[in-house]
Order: sequence, then structure tokens, then C-alpha cells
Amino acid sequence: MNEVFVRVALDHPLPTLFDYRCATPEMAAAAVPGALVSVPFGKRHVVGLVCEVTTHSDVPAERLKAVDKFCTACPPLSENWLALAAFAADYYQRGLGEVALPALPQALRDTARWSRLFAPEERYRLTPAGRAALPDALPARASALRKLAQALADSDYLLAADARALHPKALPTLDTWQSSGWVELDVIEAAAVPAAVAAENAPAPALPTLTDEQDAAVEAIRDADGFAPFLLHGVTGSGKTEVYLRALADILAAKPAAQALVLVPEINLTPQFEAAFRARFAALDSSAIVTLHSGLAEGERARHWFAAHSGRARIVLGTRLAVLASLPQLAVIVVDEEHDPAYKQQEGLRYSARDLAIYRAKQLGVPVVLGSATPSLESWWQADQGRYKRLTLSRRAVADAVLPTVKLVDLEEERRRGRASFEGLSGPLVAALRARLERGEQSLVFLNRRGYAPQLACDACGWVAGCPRCSAYVVLHKPERALRCHHCGWESRIPRSCPECGNVDIAPMGRGTQRVEESLASAVPGARVLRIDADSTRRKGSAQALFSDVHAGEVDILVGTQMIAKGHDFQRVSLVGVLNADTALFSHDFRASERLFAQLMQVSGRAGRAGLPGEVLIQTRYPRHALYHALSRHDYVGFASATLAERRDAHLPPFVYQALLRAEGRTLEAALAFLQQAAAELTQIPAAARVTAYDAVPLTIVKVMHVHRAQLLIESASRAALQATLRAWQPLLRGLKGVLRWNLEVDPLDI
Ligand code: ADP
Ligand code: ZN
Ligand code: ZN
Repeated sequence: MNEVFVRVALDHPLPTLFDYRCATPEMAAAAVPGALVSVPFGKRHVVGLVCEVTTHSDVPAERLKAVDKFCTACPPLSENWLALAAFAADYYQRGLGEVALPALPQALRDTARWSRLFAPEERYRLTPAGRAALPDALPARASALRKLAQALADSDYLLAADARALHPKALPTLDTWQSSGWVELDVIEAAAVPAAVAAENAPAPALPTLTDEQDAAVEAIRDADGFAPFLLHGVTGSGKTEVYLRALADILAAKPAAQALVLVPEINLTPQFEAAFRARFAALDSSAIVTLHSGLAEGERARHWFAAHSGRARIVLGTRLAVLASLPQLAVIVVDEEHDPAYKQQEGLRYSARDLAIYRAKQLGVPVVLGSATPSLESWWQADQGRYKRLTLSRRAVADAVLPTVKLVDLEEERRRGRASFEGLSGPLVAALRARLERGEQSLVFLNRRGYAPQLACDACGWVAGCPRCSAYVVLHKPERALRCHHCGWESRIPRSCPECGNVDIAPMGRGTQRVEESLASAVPGARVLRIDADSTRRKGSAQALFSDVHAGEVDILVGTQMIAKGHDFQRVSLVGVLNADTALFSHDFRASERLFAQLMQVSGRAGRAGLPGEVLIQTRYPRHALYHALSRHDYVGFASATLAERRDAHLPPFVYQALLRAEGRTLEAALAFLQQAAAELTQIPAAARVTAYDAVPLTIVKVMHVHRAQLLIESASRAALQATLRAWQPLLRGLKGVLRWNLEVDPLDI
């Protein structure tokens, strides 16, 4: 019999596969592409992914090592999935293993846990008899047992593992209750068949009558044949979620095992979506809907991943990492808020989940829906070209809900006329906030800067508190009484006096959310002010609690960063105030205005959703700026065409394709020298004739954690030429020395 070898992808920067022997016939039989293996690598044993199985290896026999074992708990990944990982690796210039292995749940990459993974789930359920008997049948002082009974009563079922965590003797107790007929035990095989519709005739929830536009959109998606990319352009509050729900319901009903993938840009938006999907798909077994995001505990994430991989989960709801989930029966993909920069991973494999979603849909020949009130200009341009089909929702779905009126507060004018203001809050904004408080309506104040003040400065000598490790100012955080670097996390106490000249009059300059929170409390007496930003939500789950306070009406004024701008369906907000938006108008980043427009449109969209007339006040020094003008007319289309025309004239994306080479060195000179050599290497590459390389430049924040950073931008009108150049460039770059690190980013968002 021929010997069998496997070629394995490992999480290693070398873009090659590693060959191993199968030592036994059992192993040879288990060797299939997509299987997970444990293999010796150097002094360690690591988990890899079998990509090929062959009967020949070029590695000399004495150097070939044998596979330790195959992972039998996990069925192999599909050929389609391997092809997706291979595409992502090739497109983003990474090794296959560097893409494929991090895409798997961490628990799968630990061989010690293999045998325990995906064991059948044991679920205890209260019977109607149990519901009637418990907890009254229990002795009053048996508080542990009462807790157990409560846990059973609180949800559909209780996992054996969770019961054991509640009380060490929970399982014997549950066995006793089972013999009393109070609970029932279901054993769910992890690799079970796709979750089926529950047998009981679950009452269908009352569905809203679709608007004509929603109806047309649902029909187009449902009737799509093969690969069909849709751009669902719907103004805020137009009911895009309802379109996803209906289209998915139709597609999932039509194919008994079909799976749907729904992507949202932020973890904070998953609970709202999950609730909507669970309510709508109440007839599906509750394990048929799973979430995938970085907030899940490891074991939970592995179980959810496996539900998707085994085909049990019919709907997977997740953040960008979910785009690489294994979904053998994937039949439709939704990317909500497709313009959101959060879909771009900013470290490691720097992929765009939106772009991979489109590739995936094309690979499988299924529809993909990109939804947004402010589509990315890339997607808008694809639709202009007829490559994506545009679906439009031009009105708000709820009867009476109209788009809010947008007003600009001219700060120069306010100042010239000597009108009163309250620490950066203009008179008109304060008056509007007070009026909302009197009427019992909610307001939202948005600014994109957290902390108390972005700088702490000395008036006498001009000193500004800076980070010792970065070329950046540190931000004053008042509640924590700290100066904090937002780039590296460095922290120190607030000095009592200027370290340069001893002056005790050092003062905060500029405003962040903490300071605005303070100003609001004094400008609008009696208002309950709540701040939501990365600082106030640091604890796991706290964002959820804060958002529910808003929904419950326990908050009058919500102040925060972009976290409050996205997607939330606030029913009682009738006023939105925007501070400090101007800085983005004159940024050197050509995408800044697109991002600002989207952000302001999103945050404005939180106002007036449920019939209360909504109002948006934007404080600005440039009330005549074209961006604000378009915003006040809710004119995304006009803004998009004007901006695309500018981009075309300036040869910017989407009219060219870009890649960035970033280098980090001990000195700026070293980083720049590396990039200059890298640029010189381009002359050796034939495809680079169609590629333009710009000068190497320092990054805006040039030093972070004592490391100096610089970048080199290359671009081409031909995506193929750019890709060919990158492919040929990589090995040459590996030969260059002199920097600590370098990386390539394809389709960068921040330049
Ligand atoms: P978007 O995501 O487009 O901003 P949502 O999906 O959050 O909008 O919908 C806004 C509101 O409109 C929600 O409260 C939703 O329940 C409601 N809604 C959606 N479609 C309809 C409809 N056809 N009739 C009545 N209300 C609807
Ligand atoms: Zn000083
Ligand atoms: Zn720092």
C-alpha cells in the first residue's frame, strides 16, 4: 500500500504548507482535506488544517514527521470553506494557515480539549407539572434548590453544565425531580440534523404590513437566482430589518436545511437583532439561531461555531469575524450598515468582512444584501455601474414618522451677537434640550471624543501634557483622575502644577464626553444625563444595561461617541445635538468627509423614529459647507454623486485600488529607509509598471510605544496588476532588514 501524506496549513507567517506522514492505516483513512490535525512543529505540538492528501512528498523521508492525531470530534471543513480561506489569504497577502486557523474557535486549537468538545448537550426542562409544583414543594430554607427551580422557570431549558455550576449537587436533585415528573431531560447531539420547525403550532406573530418599497425589496431578494448582490439603500427608520426578516423567512422556508448569515458592525447591536430574530423565528428551535462575536466566552463561541459548522444553526448573527464561519448550507448573506468601518479588521489579517461576504456569495451562487442609509461610496459606485442591484426605501416605515429637521447653529454668529452659551453648548441647543425635558422626551448629544479634555496645558509656558512613549498628547480623564494615552494606554496622575515651570494654573483644553456630561448637568438642571462611550462601558455587558436604561425611559439626555449613533431604535428620542463635527471637514484623509456624513446621518436617524417630530441641531463654524447642506436635505444621493465625481478627478478609490506597506522601526530613519528600499524593489517587478508608488511618509502619530512608524502607499487602476505586484513583492520584502516589523494592507481605509 502507498504511504499517505498530508499537507497541513499552520498558523505561521511562512506561506507554505507543511508535509506529515500518516503512521497508521486508521490515520490514512482519516486524512481528508479540511480535517483538523495535531502535528509536531519544532518543540511543540500544534493544531493544523489538512489542505491536501497525497501519496508523495518532496521532503526527504528522514525529515518527515508523523501526524499525532486527527480531530474526530469535528467533521472536516468543506472544500468551499477551504477555498474561501485560500482566497482571503491570497487577496490579503497572508499565509493560508494565518487566515484559516485564527478563524476557528480557540477551543478547537487546543488538542487537550478535543475529546470534551461538542459532547451532546443535556438539557433539563420543567414539565407543566413541575411548573405548578415548584418551588412551593420545596422547604422554605432550601435556598440552593429554590435557585435551581428558579433557573429552570426563567428560561426554556437549563444545561446540565450550568446546573452544576449553580450547585454541586444539582444533577442528583434534577434526577429526583425527573422521577417525580417535574422535569424532562433532552439530550441534543451536537452534530444533529438541522434544527427543525417545532411541532407545536406556534402562534405566528402579528406582522406589520409591508410598505410597497419593502415589499418590492423582499420580492427581489427572495426571487434571486444564483449570485445576486443587492444594495438596500433605506433611509434611517425605513424598516430595513423587516426586509431582512421577511426575505430570510422565505429563503429558509423554501430550503429545509438552508442557512443564513447576518452581519452587524458592532457587538452592541447583536442583542437588538437577536431579539428581533428570535421573536420572528419563534417556530424555530432556540438553538437554530446563534450569535458569533468576540464577546462570547470561549466555550460558548466554540459551541455556536459548531452549531453553524454542523448545519444545526439556521441563522448565524455576528460581527465581522462571523464572515469566516463554517456554514455548509449557506443560502443568503446580509451585511447590515455595510458602510461601517468596523467591518474592516485593523490588525492581523486586515480583511474587509463586507468584501469577503460578497466573495462568499459569489462563490456559492447565493444572494447577498448590503443594507445602509449611507452606503459606502465603493458600493454606491458598484450599483451605479449596474454590478449591484439597488433597492430603495425612501420613507420611514412607521406611519407619521418623518425624517427629522436638521438645523445648523452658526457658532460664529452666536459669538458675534454675544449670545449666551454654556461651556461649549450653544444657546439654541440648551433651549431645545430644556424644552425636551419639559415635554418628557429624550435627547441625544453626540461628539466623537471621549475623556474629559483632549489636552491639559499650561498657559504660562505653553507646556502640554504628552505621552512619554508616543508622539501624542494625553487625554484628561476626570472621574478616574488620570491622564491617559489613547494610543498605548499609558496612564499617570494629574500633576498639581506644570512640570516645566511650576505654574499651578494648568487647565484642560477642548472637550470630551466626560466634560460635556458635566456641562449638561448644569445647563439643563434636573435632567438625568447618561454617558455611553468606551470608558463607561468597559465592563462586559455594561453597555447593554446602559442602553436598556435609555429604552426604559430612565434617561433624559444621552451623551456619547459613535457608540450611540449606530443602529439603535430609540423610540423616545426627539432631539439630537452634534458637537465638534467640524474637525473632520478639513482632514487630510480623503475618506473623512464620507465617514462624517455617514455618522451624522446615522446619529440624526436616531431622532423622531416613533412619530415624535425629530430635530437635529449641529453646532458649526461652517454652516455653509456643502456637506452640511446635503445633510440638512437628507440628500445622500447628491452627496454621493458629488463626492464620487471629486474622487474620479483626483484618481482616488473607488477609481483606483490601493495597498499600504507599513514599517515600524526603532527610529523614523530606519522605517523610512526600509520603505525606500521596498519602493526600489518594485522596479524588478514587471506588473509594477502599472502601479504608482508614492513617497514613504511618517504616520500622523509617528511614535507609539517608543516605536516609529511610517508607510508607503502604492496604487493602480488595475486590481489585477496591484495583486500581481503584491504577490511578487512579498518575497523581496522578506529579504529586507532594518525594521522591527512590517505589514501589508490591501484596500486600506485609513491612510
Ligand atoms: P432601519 O434599520 O431602516 O433604520 P428599522 O428596521 O429599525 O429601520 O425600523 C424602524 C421601525 O419601523 C421599527 O420600529 C420597525 O418595527 C418599524 N417598521 C418596519 N417596517 C414596518 C412596517 N412595514 N410597518 C410599520 N412599522 C414598521
Ligand atoms: Zn508651565
Ligand atoms: Zn502613548
